[in-house]
Amino acid sequence: MNRIGVCPGTFDPITNGHLDIVNRSLKFFDTVIVAVARNPQKAPLFDIKERLEMITDSTKGMTGVQVEAFDGLLVDYLKRKHAHGIIRGLRAVSDFEYEMQMAMMNRNLDQSIETLFLMPSVEYSYLTSTIIKNVASYGGNIEGLVPPLVARRLRDTFRSAP
Ligand code: ADP
Repeated sequence: MNRIGVCPGTFDPITNGHLDIVNRSLKFFDTVIVAVARNPQKAPLFDIKERLEMITDSTKGMTGVQVEAFDGLLVDYLKRKHAHGIIRGLRAVSDFEYEMQMAMMNRNLDQSIETLFLMPSVEYSYLTSTIIKNVASYGGNIEGLVPPLVARRLRDTFRSAP
């Protein structure tokens, strides 16, 4: 049986924390779909095409990983993909409340779907896409915290900013 997990998020942009979670989730699923929310309420810095490109490039060596954009309800997307579970990362206690609400709501929408929470490696446990963008916007060093293509794209974005 091909067990399929979906790792959803905005990934604006993908960080080594996200990659750590995707990598760990491959222990539980044969296929992990990194599902990029196309139209989140968050007004992303990178458009969907750029976010998909950066994730595809960063996961190219990882067997079993697929990258796709999605719209609409996550539980409907899982049904379309015949997927078995949602994978989310938990960095700190502060993530817990929101993640718990989402997991309970998704269960309410579809009883058959489970949410799996995984902890990242400690060196990525404070990383968020927002903090990476903030540091990069002031020219700070983000090497080792994001994949090389992401570091390049962030440098280019903020260099060309007015
Ligand atoms: P969202 O738009 O749902 O907040 P994100 O793109 O920010 O999505 O994150 C997607 C998932 O990755 C979430 O489960 C989030 O908790 C997790 N995540 C993000 N950064 C890290 C990190 N540094 N370590 C572990 N999990 C992380």
